Amino acid sequence: MPLYEYRCGDCQARFEILQRMGEGAEGLACPSCGGSELVKEFSTFAATSAGNGARRSAGGGGCGSAGGTGFT
Ligand SMILES: [Zn+2]
Repeated sequence: MPLYEYRCGDCQARFEILQRMGEGAEGLACPSCGGSELVKEFSTFAATSAGNGARRSAGGGGCGSAGGTGFT
């Protein structure tokens, strides 16, 4: 289950919530002030996979050019 990070629009507190994918902030409340003005931030889960993907594509580019010469 992905971990979502929320920021409270009232007190600016940041906190993480385990949620199902696609679930919104409905029904959630800020653990600090109880406010419901929650803003979804980038989840650490998504940020990690994006970082891995970028690194892999950079490495794949180097391999790809070498493989491309072999294929042609
Ligand atoms: Zn708050």
